[in-house]
Amino acid sequence: MKKVILTADRPTGKLHLGHYIGTLKSRVEMQNAGNYDEFYVMIADAQALTDNAKNVQKVRENILEVALDYLACGLDPNKICIFIQSEVPALTEMTFYYMNLVNLSRLKRNPTVKEEIKFRGFGENIPVGFLTYPISQTADITAFNANIIPVGEDQLPVIEQAREIVKTFNTTYGDVLVMPDAIIPKQKSQARLVGIDGKGKMSKSLGNCIYLSDDEKTIKEKVMSMYTDPDHIKISDPGKIEGNVVFEYLDAFITPDSFEKYMPEYKNLEELKDHYKRGGLGDVKIKLFLNNVLQELLAPIRMRRKIFEKNPEKIFEMLFKGSDQANLIANKTMEKIKSAMGINYRKKFDNKN
Ligand code: ATP
Ligand code: MG
Repeated sequence: MKKVILTADRPTGKLHLGHYIGTLKSRVEMQNAGNYDEFYVMIADAQALTDNAKNVQKVRENILEVALDYLACGLDPNKICIFIQSEVPALTEMTFYYMNLVNLSRLKRNPTVKEEIKFRGFGENIPVGFLTYPISQTADITAFNANIIPVGEDQLPVIEQAREIVKTFNTTYGDVLVMPDAIIPKQKSQARLVGIDGKGKMSKSLGNCIYLSDDEKTIKEKVMSMYTDPDHIKISDPGKIEGNVVFEYLDAFITPDSFEKYMPEYKNLEELKDHYKRGGLGDVKIKLFLNNVLQELLAPIRMRRKIFEKNPEKIFEMLFKGSDQANLIANKTMEKIKSAMGINYRKKFDNKN
C-alpha cells in the first residue's frame, strides 16, 4: 500500500510551539527520512474562514505567515507538495457529497468541535461551516488518498469522524476512499502542548502562545510569565509538578544534552522534579533553564524565516505550483467518487456514443 502523508494548518495566525512539537517536527523528520510515496501539506484557508467569515483579511495575510513558518522549520517544497485549500475546488465539491453521510447529532458529539464551540462562545449561533469542518477535513484527506495524518491530539476525534465517513462511503458506493490513520507524538506533553497560561492547549485563537517567530526578548518574557504552582511562594516551599507549565514544557522540549549545557548540576528531569517537589528550587531557576532550551530551538528557525521573508512572491509561486499539482490529484479522486456514486452522467452519455 502506498504511503501518502497529508496534514494541514489553519492560517489564523503564525505557527507556535504547539504546532512545532505536535506535528511540524515529525513532518520534517518524515520528509527527511523520505519514507513515503506522496506528501501533502495544506494551508487550510477555507476551514479558517468557517470561524473567521468576517475577517478574511486575517486569513489571507496568514497564508504567507504559515508558509514562512513551514520553510523556516525545514519543510522543503522540492520534496513535498505545499498548497492552499481554496485553490483546489474539488475539495468543496467532495464535502457537499460527504455531508449526506453524516447526521447532525454525530457532528454535535465530536468532543473537539464541542470544546471549540464552547471557547469561541458560539452557542446556537454557530456557523454551519464550522460545525461541519470535520466533513470538509475528510474531503481534504481522502482527495489525496492520504493514509498517514500527523496531527496533535486535539485532532484525533476529527480523524475518527473522517474514518467513519470513509467507511460509510465505501459501504454505500463501493471501495473508493482510503482509510486514514492519525499519528500523534507518544509523549502527552507533546501531543497536546499546554498554553503558557496553563488553561488549555496552546492555540492561536486563545492567545496563549509562544510563536516560532517570536524574538529572543519576547520568548524570555513569555517564559518568565508562565503559570507554575501558585502555592510555591518561597523557594524553600515544596512545589507541584502537575499542572506546572514549566515542567510540561521541559518534558516536551529538552534534548539529551540540555542538562549538560545549561544545568549541569542535575543529571536529568527526574532529579530536577524531585528537587522542586522537596522544596529549595525556585521558579526563576527552572524558567531560565527552559528559556535556554527554547532559545536554542527557536533561534535557527527565526533566522531561516528572516531569509525567506525577503521574497514573498517566490513563496506564492511555490504555493500556486503546489496547488496545481494538488488539483490534478484531487480531480482524479473526484472523478472516481462521481463514478462510484453513479453521477458521472456525461461519461455515461459519452460511452453510448
Ligand atoms: P486555531 O486556534 O485557529 O484552531 P490552532 O492553534 O489550534 O489554531 P491549528 O491550525 O488548528 O492550530 O492546528 C494545526 C495542527 O497543529 C493540528 O495538527 C493540531 O493538532 C496541531 N496543534 C495545534 N495546537 C497544538 C498544541 N497545543 N499541541 C500539539 N499540537 C497542536
Ligand atoms: Mg485548531
